[in-house]
Order: sequence, then structure tokens, then C-alpha cells
Amino acid sequence: MTTELKKGIVYLVGAGPGDPGLITVRGVECLCRAEVVVYDYLANEQLLAYAPDKAERVYAGKIGGRHNQYQEEINSLLVQKAQAGKTVVRLKGGDPFVFGRGGEECEALQEAGIAFEVIPGVTAAVGAAAYAGIPLTHRDFTASVLFVTGQEGKDKDESNIDWKRLSLGNGTVVFYMGITTLRRNMGQLMEHGRSPQTPVALVRWGTTPGQQVLTGCLADIADRAEQSGFKPPAVTIVGEVVDLRNKLRWFDSRPLFGRKILVTRAADQAGEFSFLLAERGATAIECPTIRLVEPESWEPLDSAIRELGSYDWVVFTSGNSVRNFFQRLETHMLDARALASCRVCVVGPKTAEALKTFGIRANLVATDYKAEGVVAELEKQAIAGKKILFPRADRAREIIPQELKRLGAHLDSPVAYRNILPERLPPEALFALEKRSVDCITFTSSSTVQNLAEMLGRDLLVNMLQGVIVASIGPVTSRTCREMGLKVDIEPQRYTLADLVAAIEQHFTNQ
Ligand code: SAH
Repeated sequence: MTTELKKGIVYLVGAGPGDPGLITVRGVECLCRAEVVVYDYLANEQLLAYAPDKAERVYAGKIGGRHNQYQEEINSLLVQKAQAGKTVVRLKGGDPFVFGRGGEECEALQEAGIAFEVIPGVTAAVGAAAYAGIPLTHRDFTASVLFVTGQEGKDKDESNIDWKRLSLGNGTVVFYMGITTLRRNMGQLMEHGRSPQTPVALVRWGTTPGQQVLTGCLADIADRAEQSGFKPPAVTIVGEVVDLRNKLRWFDSRPLFGRKILVTRAADQAGEFSFLLAERGATAIECPTIRLVEPESWEPLDSAIRELGSYDWVVFTSGNSVRNFFQRLETHMLDARALASCRVCVVGPKTAEALKTFGIRANLVATDYKAEGVVAELEKQAIAGKKILFPRADRAREIIPQELKRLGAHLDSPVAYRNILPERLPPEALFALEKRSVDCITFTSSSTVQNLAEMLGRDLLVNMLQGVIVASIGPVTSRTCREMGLKVDIEPQRYTLADLVAAIEQHFTNQ
């Protein structure tokens, strides 16, 4: 039997303009199957996370330069990898066929007889205009839009650009790579008949948290750009539609736009919090200070599970305790039915939601979202003499066990998971702290504070957080912050993530 070599293929994937959410579904599918990813300077590196860990990642960034020799090297790399039978993703900023030399790469593949597919992307002009609040066409202003390279003619004697046609009428014109040549290009448009008062916007790093927009008109934009030291990469949008930004701006006017917020939750729960912050324009830097691991021994929880039918109540004070408890049930080949004879009490709506995903509706949801709230709620239930199971974290406060025992309950509180220190802080978070570019740090439990202090050392922690706004989820966490020498600037009235985010928003809006 002969084994035939797997046929290689190259997917030219448009990565979109910067916001990692703007890649296509098909693009993600290809990345997920990639064995080799060859990516550019302008393709957001976060997208590489879609590729399998074992995929080879090759950086083919060309910062500013567009050397032909370099392009040939990329072409032959693609050919060579595909000839070796690999599934290759060529990840390119924006759209592969818009000023991306994707056409040349496809020609090289076609000549070598290699299969390829082109997956379009949101090109910079379209992405940057949308995120700047500038509709590229509008019935009241223009019926056409033109994408032009700002570099044309730079190293040629003659330009291919028909400046006359470009300058007549009121069509929107978008220049790519046109910042270093801005003065010349704006001059050409005016020389060929465009009004010097035509509005212009420069959009740098469009669609990203670092987006910068500079507006002016044909006559003054070059001076303005020079004065403010405006740098590439940026698109230049020329046309009456630019004025609509005054009304339609939505992205860079969000309350937390441009703010860097450090999120110190456990890695597996940071996602939702970061999402809420990002929705308001902030850049959330995830900095896990807690790693959740198994208990040292499962025996206490296992023996409780074996007797589940004998408990009157089960109490959960976090989504983690819910998830870890149900995971353990599963290893016993049990499911939600094992709780059929117990009533369940949870600390707040989030924990109730986590419980619901396992098919159980909480009988009691404490309205004061902390241990004291749970105790107050159970106190109303005449729990003296009742058997209560409280699967918990190893470092939880003793309030619930102590108080429930005081109220006469028989309590078992086996450890369902442990909070331990991660090996190190992510480099991105450390870098941001060292560079003092963090605006706000969030703590959502005492252990996030304690662990960060332990990882950095208390002195360094206090030092690094000088001038950084400290946001804490509630009074218990705030107390721990103060014990560590930190001043708490933000604490919401209700102790939920949504309320914390709202309080952060209010703080920065009032500044
Ligand atoms: N293929 C890409 C363009 C590559 S040419 C696309 O379709 O978007 C590189 C130029 O694209 C830059 O000089 C700049 O003008 C523009 N560009 C790319 N990303 C951008 C961004 N996030 N914001 C503004 N301009 C961007």
C-alpha cells in the first residue's frame, strides 16, 4: 500500500483591520486547522490564538518597507510549506486583495501548482471609517468611494493616479499608506479642483483601543498632522461625509475608551468581566492572580456526595463551587437528580445562573451578595437541627460555617477547589504595570489582592499601583486592599461584576 502525501493548501485570510472580532467566520475556521501561519505586522496577533498550539507561527512583518526581495521570500516560503503537504494560513491585515500584495502571492502559488483559497477581510478603509463614525457613502453627500494608495508615484517618475478624475465631483477618497506623503496628496487634490475646505479625517490604528482620529480640511490637515506628530499606520478619508462624524461618532467616545484596566480574576472567569469592560471601550488586560485546582483530598466531598440524600440544604457561594461540585458528581456517575431531596441556597444571581446550567433552580437566593447574606437568608428557614452541605474554596471566610453552627445546624463544609498562586504574572500585565500605563486595577475577591501582593511583594505592589485607580467589588475585598496598603477609589453599592463595571464607568465619566 502506498501512502500518498497529504496535499498542501494555502488560505489567504483577511485578518480585518485590527479589532480581532472583525475576522470572518471562515477565516477563523481556516486558522483553527492551520499547521503553519504566516502573519503580518498589521494582522492582530491575538488572532493567532485560534491556531492550534502546535502550529508553526512565522512572522513576516514588513514595517513600512515594501521590498520586492522580501515579498519573494514570503512567496517561496508559502510554496515550500504547501509543497511539504502543510495546511498554510497566510494571515494578512485587512483584506488580502486590497493593497496587500495578495494578488502576487496567489500568482506565485498558481505558478507552482498549489491550491489556494482567498478569504476576504474587512479592509482598513471600511473598518476605520465605521469605527470613526464616518459613512463612506451617504445619499446626501456622495455616491462613490475610491480607495487609493498614497505611495503611488513616490519612487516612480509618473503616477498612475488620475488626479484629475479623483479631484472632480464629490466622491469620497480614502488613501492607504498616505501619511508620509500627506502634504503632496492633499496638494494634488486641491491643484486638480477639490475645494480646500473639503473635510479630511486621518484615522490611525482604526478599530483598536489605540484608535486616533485627527480631522481638518484639505488645506490644513498636513499642518495639523505635522504639529501633532501624527504617525502611520492610518487611512486618510477625504470628503463631505467626514463631517458626519460629529453626529455619528460612537467608538472612541465610549466612556472607558482608551482606558487600560487590569483584571485580576482567575483566568477561567475573566472573560465576562473583560467583555463588559471592552463594551465600554476599555482595554482589559487579564492578569490572573488565582489558579483554581483540585482539593488536596477529595475524601471529605466524596463522603458528602455518598450521603447527599441526607442533607436538607446545600449552599453555594460561587459559580466555581457549583461547577466543581457538579464535576465531582459526574465522576461518581451522578447528576442533578442526586440533589432531588435537598433545597439549595446561593449567594446571588450569578451563582443561581451557574446552578441553572446544571438543571437546578435555587430555592433561596441571598439578596445581600456575601456570606452574611446567606446566613441571614437561612436564619429565616428554621435550620436548627438541619443538615447542611457547604462545598467551598479552601481559603473562604469562616463566617458561613461558624454562623450556621451557631444557629444549630449540622454543617459539613468540604473543600471543592483550592485557590492557589499562578506561577507568574502574564508579561503583558507586568509590562503595563512597569510602564505605568494602567489606569485602573480591579479586585473581585480578597484572594485576588492577597495573591497579587504575594506575587509582587507588598512594597512593589503599593509602589506599582501609585496613581492607579483601585476598584474593589465590595467591603470585604476593600478591607483587604487597605490592609495591604492600598487606597480604594471605587466600590459599588451591590457586589456584582455588572455593578462594579458601572461604578468604574461612573468614576471615569465624572473625571
Ligand atoms: N490589506 C490591507 C492594507 C495593507 S496596506 C487592508 O485591506 O486594509 C497598509 C495600510 O493600510 C496602512 O499604511 C494604512 O494606511 C492602512 N491600515 C491598515 N490597518 C489600519 C488601521 N487599523 N487603521 C488605519 N489604517 C490602517
